[in-house]
Amino acid sequence: MKNPFPIPRPVPDGPWRWLVPVLLVLLFLLVLLWLPWQARQMESNERQEQLIADTLWVEQTLRFELARSEEALATLGVDLAADTRPTQQTLQARLAQMFKNGHELRRVAWLDADGRLLAMRGAELPGEPIQSSREAQAMSRTTRSGRYSDPYGPSPTLRGLVDYHLPLYHHGKFAGSLVATYSLQTLLDENVPWWFAQDNALSLLDRDDHVVAQRAAGGPGRGVYTHKRALDLPGGQIVLATDSVKGAPNLLPNLLVGSVIVLALGLVLSLGALWRHIARTIAAENALRQQMAFRTAMENSLLTGLRARDLEGRVTYVNPAFCRIVGLPDHELLGKKPPMPYWAPEAMDDYEQRFRKVLAGHATPQFETVFQRPDGSRVPVLVFEAPLVDSHGRHTGWMSSILDITDRRRAEDLARQQQEKLETSARLATMGEISSMLAHELNQPLAAISSYTAGALNVLARVGDGGPSAPALDAGMLRRALEQANTQARRAGQIIRSVHEFVKKREPRRESVTVQHVIDGIRALVDLQARQSYVTLQVEVPPDLPPVLADRLLLEQVLLNLTRNAIEAMQDIDRERRVLRIEAAHTRTEEQGQVAVSVIDNGHGIPPEVAERLFSPFFSTKAEGMGMGLSICRTAIEFHGGTLTHADNPGGGTVFTFTLQQAQATIPT
Ligand code: ADP
Repeated sequence: MKNPFPIPRPVPDGPWRWLVPVLLVLLFLLVLLWLPWQARQMESNERQEQLIADTLWVEQTLRFELARSEEALATLGVDLAADTRPTQQTLQARLAQMFKNGHELRRVAWLDADGRLLAMRGAELPGEPIQSSREAQAMSRTTRSGRYSDPYGPSPTLRGLVDYHLPLYHHGKFAGSLVATYSLQTLLDENVPWWFAQDNALSLLDRDDHVVAQRAAGGPGRGVYTHKRALDLPGGQIVLATDSVKGAPNLLPNLLVGSVIVLALGLVLSLGALWRHIARTIAAENALRQQMAFRTAMENSLLTGLRARDLEGRVTYVNPAFCRIVGLPDHELLGKKPPMPYWAPEAMDDYEQRFRKVLAGHATPQFETVFQRPDGSRVPVLVFEAPLVDSHGRHTGWMSSILDITDRRRAEDLARQQQEKLETSARLATMGEISSMLAHELNQPLAAISSYTAGALNVLARVGDGGPSAPALDAGMLRRALEQANTQARRAGQIIRSVHEFVKKREPRRESVTVQHVIDGIRALVDLQARQSYVTLQVEVPPDLPPVLADRLLLEQVLLNLTRNAIEAMQDIDRERRVLRIEAAHTRTEEQGQVAVSVIDNGHGIPPEVAERLFSPFFSTKAEGMGMGLSICRTAIEFHGGTLTHADNPGGGTVFTFTLQQAQATIPT
């Protein structure tokens, strides 16, 4: 039926469900690790590019400086080769100006066509010019343009010096040359800006990669970011090499890397925790789902109807059994408030009274009532009602379990009718037997009465009409005969009355009776049966035995049945052993006093297979037996709140004992 707490169905657990997030997390971690590496790479590239650009710029600056000097020399050269040469004084002044403009200039020499020195300014170079300088000079004449030599060798005074040879022509004829010597070191020192020198170690290298000039204001380079660029001087081979003082960007101390690693670790840990939490939640959900499924299956298979109501009496839950009992589907019941559709009009007052009590918070724990089905039929039900308490201990409504007791009622009615019929037929059967015995037994008193009255008549006839020869009337004899006849007639009457009383169908009526009284009531009949079977009857009832609370006739019936069975059980034993005893005794239980009555015989006893079915209706071992006697006896005794049991008689035979409540306990005497 409707489940008030539905649980969603589980999501199918495919491999993709776990694989996709795992792959995504791995990818994310990879990207996290790759990012700092990439950042480092980019930083490194940027620095390298910056260095290249700066190197280019420095190279341009150096080249420009030399080009400016070359130009000044060329102008001077044109003037020196002209027809009107400048005076020595003018020459010196112009050279001085050149030295002033470019500090890297160390010496300028003017040579004639044969290589003789015509004029010179600057320091004298020690020794001969190097081979490269001579080659440059020759080359300059061949190419008719200015040429640089390679830098001078390792000698400290000459190191880093280069010569520039400019050939001079007069009317197309070689007229000498100008030789300028530059200091590459000064070129670097003067033309490279300080900030660049601070960040980079600069060197000028010859064609064998020997350092010929160097500037490293910020210390030696690290060799990480380096760049080389040829100065592109005609003839000479000089390379500008830069080497940054900065090292490669460090990976680990980097703040970004640190935070990425911390974040990645945090992510992995929290993912692990989340994973564990999800696994636990899923396990708990599964357990709950199984429990709910079990509970629902259990509730649906119940034969007992279940109904929950809130504090206002509104139906919040019904199970299928309840719907079956009232013949209504659940949607017509859920949410309904009284009056309910299954209330029968005749019991309306009862329902309303009970509902008022429920609203006041006092439900009736157990009651029987009737419900009405839509077809008008009535269902007797037994209702158990209890408060519904939630997990916080709050009273949230009422829970009822409802039992359909139609079958039980029908069975009870049937059993009662059956019992009544059986009792009637049993009584009739007993009466049949008894009436035949009565006929036999009444013969005796009637015969006796007949003979006593005949004797009396004889006595009277002998007296005749009172003549002289007539004997005198024997009055004593006449009285005795009439007294005997009277006694026998009363006895016959007593037998008839007790049989009449016994067979008369009556409702049980409890009263305070003594056992002695009951025995007296049936004594004549028992005597009759006993005598027929040559059985001696012994009755032992203590005079102070308290009375019992019972229906006298039912007790008489019980005793008659027990005594008849006892007599019949002794039919096959020796006549002198045929003794039937009725004993009564006073016993006490914890609550009240009891009286126990035993019927004892010396008969054939009860074998175990008979004992098992002794009290079953219609069980009999006798050819003529009905098998109802003991069943009726037990019903009658239990009806009085007592018990009927049997045991073996130690001397052979059987003892049947029934107990009854003592009357004083309830009825004060
Ligand atoms: P019925 O006497 O008609 O057979 P009962 O219910 O009175 O029916 O007895 C059932 C059976 O119990 C008897 O058939 C008999 O076998 C056994 N029974 C009853 N009383 C005695 C007894 N005192 N001694 C031996 N057997 C007995």
